Amino acid sequence: MNELPLDGFPATNENSAMVLLVDDQAMIGEAVRRGLAHEENIDFHFCADPHQAVAQAIRIKPTVILQDLIMPGLDGLTLVREYRNNPATQDIPIIVLSTKEDPLVKSAAFAAGANDYLVKLPDNIELVARIRYHSRSYLTLLQRDEAYRALRVSQQQLLDTNLVLQRLMNSDGLTGLSNRRHFDEYMELEWRRAMREQTQLSLLMIDVDYFKSFNDTFGHLAGDEALRKVAEAIRNSCARPSDLPARYGGEEFVLILPNTSPGGARLVAEKLRQSVEAMNIAHDMPQPNSHLTVSIGLATQTPTIGSHCRQLISAADKGLYLAKNNGRNQVGVA
Ligand code: GH3
Ligand code: MG
Ligand code: MG
Repeated sequence: MNELPLDGFPATNENSAMVLLVDDQAMIGEAVRRGLAHEENIDFHFCADPHQAVAQAIRIKPTVILQDLIMPGLDGLTLVREYRNNPATQDIPIIVLSTKEDPLVKSAAFAAGANDYLVKLPDNIELVARIRYHSRSYLTLLQRDEAYRALRVSQQQLLDTNLVLQRLMNSDGLTGLSNRRHFDEYMELEWRRAMREQTQLSLLMIDVDYFKSFNDTFGHLAGDEALRKVAEAIRNSCARPSDLPARYGGEEFVLILPNTSPGGARLVAEKLRQSVEAMNIAHDMPQPNSHLTVSIGLATQTPTIGSHCRQLISAADKGLYLAKNNGRNQVGVA
């Protein structure tokens, strides 16, 4: 298995063990220390004061606790329950060291949360084997938990990145409105919805007037800035969350208005036309000291079975053509 870094755990190699022996008798402590002294990768800590045991376990992070049962002042089983109730120690394997082979004591120890039971002092070979076994399974558990945690973090990052990408993929770089790709998608969706629900779908096609001459006169950068302002006005004219403004291409914009009657769409279009005019962006067309304006084509349809949204787009386009032909800075309906 790969070694994952386990925050704050000294024993990150699954073959290494950190033993904490809690026993009031120094003699037992000394005997176990000697037994483990020549074992590779086993660190040994001894705690003679049961009242310090939990705090010490939290500090040194053992991979195995050897717990004496009978100690003055604090019952070993109570201590086992305390390890189990503390989030920092709840999963650490506990080997209970008892003075006798008694089924009642044994069963009480396992009920309190012990993982293993040895009569002391056990044979050294058996003690080492059990320490290594429990230690390894504990470290494997920690590694598994860490791997899951890392997986969840990277899944979340992936989701976040996908959201950002989705937004980037759908938006126009200059104006921040939806781009043509997203418009096409949304238009199809709303067309089909309107067909199912037999509701009116309105579309505005908005084109900046004399924009070629605006670029020629004030430069391309000023032209870009003007497009951003027009886009902002279009964004502000969307009252409902389902309204979708998009840049159709060049200096042409569209606004999809689901569930909107011709009268309602006309109000939106007229307000938008006025708000662009009111921005007072200086232009010298159609005559000197004019202002930048837009022409808007408007169409509304309730889709019939088998029809295509191209019909609505082309109708709005015809409306725009009329608006241009009738002198610009107005709303045209085909
Ligand atoms: P009309 O009133 O009939 O719409 O005339 P117009 O000059 O606005 O129309 P035309 O289609 O002849 O010119 C559109 C101009 O828009 C030409 C092009 O240089 C400019 N344009 C298109 N996209 C951009 C852009 O992203 N930035 C800038 N600055 N100009 C753009
Ligand atoms: Mg144009
Ligand atoms: Mg134009």
